[in-house]
Amino acid sequence: MSASTKPAKRQPPLTVFIERARCPFCDDTALHTRRTTQGGDGSLSRNTQCRTCRAVFVVVVE
Ligand SMILES: [Zn+2]
Repeated sequence: MSASTKPAKRQPPLTVFIERARCPFCDDTALHTRRTTQGGDGSLSRNTQCRTCRAVFVVVVE
């Protein structure tokens, strides 16, 4: 069991929008990441809230 893949190597030091994620509701880019969870395949799921319309959604970063 030593062949497991490591998580992503490059991670931003602070909250930076790696991909220019947008709010799917109001199309604004002013987003606030509330929580980040790591998937089994190395992807990141970010629980994100829009600062403009307060909508909460998940942004997946590969
Ligand atoms: Zn919004």
